[in-house]
Amino acid sequence: MFEQYELPYAYDALEPHIDALTVETHYGKHHAAYTANFNAAVEKAGLTGKTAEEILSSLDRIKDPALVNALRNNGGGYYNHDLYFEILSPDPVKAPEGKLADAINATFGSTEALIEKLSALAASQFGSGWAWLYVDKDGKLAVTNSSNQDDPITMGLGKPILALDVWEHAYYLKYRNLRASYIKEFFEVLDWSAVGRKYEAIVG
Ligand code: MN
Repeated sequence: MFEQYELPYAYDALEPHIDALTVETHYGKHHAAYTANFNAAVEKAGLTGKTAEEILSSLDRIKDPALVNALRNNGGGYYNHDLYFEILSPDPVKAPEGKLADAINATFGSTEALIEKLSALAASQFGSGWAWLYVDKDGKLAVTNSSNQDDPITMGLGKPILALDVWEHAYYLKYRNLRASYIKEFFEVLDWSAVGRKYEAIVG
């Protein structure tokens, strides 16, 4: 049974950057529904006991296309939101440190340049989707965006360490059509130490 990442902060803790009703609905309704539906699909597919990463990286082994869709959309919804809520904090470390900082500087030049790239990918994602910082199959940092609940794992690119949700449910209650304003505020509550832990768990 997959269980949602337990929020270590209150729904209103990310105010004013991300409002309480959005966090409550996003975590308590959307993320909860993806998790429940993923568990049902995992059971139906006979994949109980596998990790979400194992399931999402081997969807091509499932024959039933409806079950593939259920696992991909709800498994992505479960996994992507777990990462999203884990890297947000009311008391964020405001800049990358250590190995992650070195890798960002080597790959993108600076953290500011990375944020600019991620913001552009998030802003230009047409319709629902995400922007990602991930570790590719050679252990290098890279960025991309994705539609719906796809992510670097289902896309076969690598493992995500930073997830920026740009579905309208992530921002519309407060920011309405102003996705760019939400993107800017997301980085105000992004905890780079959490991203760094994800990075080091992958590259060692
Ligand atoms: Mn979402």
